[in-house]
This record gives sequence, structure tokens and C-alpha cells, in this order.
Amino acid sequence: MKVSDLVALDVRFPTSVTQAGSDAVHTDPDYSAAYAIVRTDAGDGVEGHGLTFTIGRGTEVCVAAIEALKPFVVGRDVDDIVGDWRAFSLSLTNDSQLRWIGPEKGAIHLAGAAVINALWDLHAKREKKPLWKVLADMSPRQLVDVVDFRYITDALSPDEALDLLESRAPTRAEREAELLRDGYPAYVTSVGWIGYDDATIERLCGEAMADGWSAMKMKVGQGIDDDVRRARLLRALLGPENRLMMDANQKWDVDEAIASIGRLAPFDPYWMEEPTSPDDVLGHKAIAHAVAPVRLATGEHAHNRVMFKQFFQAGAIGFCQLDACRLAGVNEVLAVLLMAAKFGVPVCPHAGGVGLCEYVQHISAFDHIAVSGSLDDRMVEYAGHLHEHFVDPVEVRGGRYVLPAAPGYSVQMQPASLAEFSFPHGTYWAS
Ligand SMILES: [Mg+2]
Repeated sequence: MKVSDLVALDVRFPTSVTQAGSDAVHTDPDYSAAYAIVRTDAGDGVEGHGLTFTIGRGTEVCVAAIEALKPFVVGRDVDDIVGDWRAFSLSLTNDSQLRWIGPEKGAIHLAGAAVINALWDLHAKREKKPLWKVLADMSPRQLVDVVDFRYITDALSPDEALDLLESRAPTRAEREAELLRDGYPAYVTSVGWIGYDDATIERLCGEAMADGWSAMKMKVGQGIDDDVRRARLLRALLGPENRLMMDANQKWDVDEAIASIGRLAPFDPYWMEEPTSPDDVLGHKAIAHAVAPVRLATGEHAHNRVMFKQFFQAGAIGFCQLDACRLAGVNEVLAVLLMAAKFGVPVCPHAGGVGLCEYVQHISAFDHIAVSGSLDDRMVEYAGHLHEHFVDPVEVRGGRYVLPAAPGYSVQMQPASLAEFSFPHGTYWAS
């Protein structure tokens, strides 16, 4: 079976109209995706679907980058790809000419994520399993063979990764049964977007608590007095026992972050997310040192495994918020999960956006079953928007993700949604 086509689509949802998704830096996001469809010559109609998340303008650049990867995918034998995932990933991320516009960062890396995830989706559908189960059924050796260890062997060697996975293997079945029974813990972000007024926050927070949520996130960084007022409001609504996370979305310089977190610390943030530039490893380290015991979280803009290696080595973050489609797909996610487990940093994946909840439920389930073996300090982000566009949308119950059962990686969108929100010619945008 060969790959017969790779189609790239620009899909945009007009979330800026309601301020859903707004934060201190991204004030008018239209949640969007550069969307990849992999077709084969098998004649069975099974397709692989993957996406990389964007927020409006620029999606067309990622679509062009996916098209630039076409020659590396179309015509390839699917069994060859699945038989050597590492080589396939390298063929996309390390091409001798294309790598100049990365390497392993920016639009070309986002495109690689969409394509690699589409191939994993195809593989899982052919196996008739949800992706988390495909991964959970792979042997430690098979999992290690997926990972590109270039540039991270000083932090984690393949042998160490193998030892770690083998140490968890005998008890995988217990944790799989636990997750199938109880679901995976989650927190909700969509109560506290920065464009929401106090009355909206109060209403959404009340509704979320009634639905069983006990952990919520608020956006900060709009102005410290405003932040403090909103933090006081949310803490009063939540009471002392529930978790309140805060997210500055890269707004502050290092000294400003230290001062601002000092003002917000009395409201007991469970973590402070993206306090400063996502590339500033030593800045995070300085902030973390100054604001302890408040712990820092980052990762949604950490563009590859080397960034995470440095955050871990520096002891700069208390939570790892990897993104399933900013890292180059499942392969690179595995590298970061393994490093996080070695360094003892809990992974709470980034999942605001469109399709990200659908993706990361698989990642966190697999992480618990086969890598970290723990739910302590671990939660998957949940935002309530746009799930109706997916064929197999996430299901949350009582503040926990229900493990997906349908084959694949869950990001396939409804054909009608693709037709309506394709940019610029879909029916929504054309009118
Ligand atoms: Mg965030």
C-alpha cells in the first residue's frame, strides 16, 4: 500500500467574534488549523488526518509548508513508514535543503507535525485501535526505536529510555484499566479568557463547578491591578480547596514576571504559565528561583525536544506543557515524555485551541500507562470550544476525559465543517 496523495487545507473558525481563546498577547484569535489528509491506493477509503493548530493569519504559510513536504510522503510505502517511524520523521525534519527554514522550528516543523500525526492516525485506523492503545501495545524497544535521540543523549540515552519503559511495562495493564474506569483528570481553561468580563467569568465558573470541575485556569497579563482583581474574584468563587492556574502567555519581562507573580501569589496559583518568552530558559530559571514555591509551567510554544531538554536540565519548570502538533508529531512527543519522566516533571499537555484536546487525551493516557506511571500533579487541559466539528470529539465527564475508543488520533473533522470553514472559499468566509 502506497501513499497516493497528501492534501493540505486551510481551516479557520471565527472565534475572535466572541473573544473565546483571547489572552494577554493573542487578543483576537481565530482558532484555525493547517490540515493534512493522507490518502492511499488501498481502495478502502481509510485516510489519515492530522492538523497543526494556528490562530488565523499565517495558516496559509503552514499549508504551503505541508505542500513542500509532499514529495517526501506521496509514493512512500505505508508499511515502510510504519516499520521505521524514526527514519520517516527524519526524512521530513532533516531534509538537507528544507531544514534551513527550521531547523526543527517554525512553520516547517508545524507542517511536519500535521503530516506525521496524519500518518499515525492512518496507522491507528488500520490497526482498528485508538492511538493511545496503539502506543500502549508497543514494546519498550519498539517505542525507543520511534524516537530521534539526536541532541538529547546528554540528558537521556536510548538505554535509559529503554530501562524506564521496561520498569513500567509489567504494570501497564493496571493503569490502563484504571483510566478506562475513571478517565484522565482534567482542568478547564474556557472560563477565564482575558476578553471575558467579570459577570461572564462568574457565570462560567459557576457552571463549570456544577459540572464537576475542580481546577480552572485564568488568563493574566493585561495589567497587574486587573489581574489581581480577577484572581481575587476567581479564588473567592473556587474556595481554597479547588485549583486555580494562571497563564500570562509570554507577556512579561523577567523582572516584571517576578514582581507580578509576587502580587498574584496570595491567590495560590497552582502554576504560573508562560511568564515570559518561551525561548528564555535561563529567564524561567531565574523566575522559578525567585517565586518558589509557586511553580512555573511552559511548553505550548517550545518548538522541539532540545528546548524541553534545557528547561528540564536547568530545573526551570515545574510542569511540562508539550503541544502535540508544535513538536513534530507523536515521535518527538515521545522524546519529551521520556525526558520529563526521567527528570520527574509532570506533563500537563497544552490543549486550548482546536483539535488539541482531541490529540492530547491520547498522549496523556499513554504517558500514564507506559511512561510516567503516575497521575500526581497531572491534568489535561480542556477548552469547551469547537468540538462539534470533529467526527470523534472528546468526551469529558465530571472533570475527567473519557478515554477515546474509536480507531485513530481523533482529529478528523466533519466534511461539512471543512467545507464551511475552509479559508477563504468556504461558505462561512465567502459570505
Ligand atoms: Mg497557555
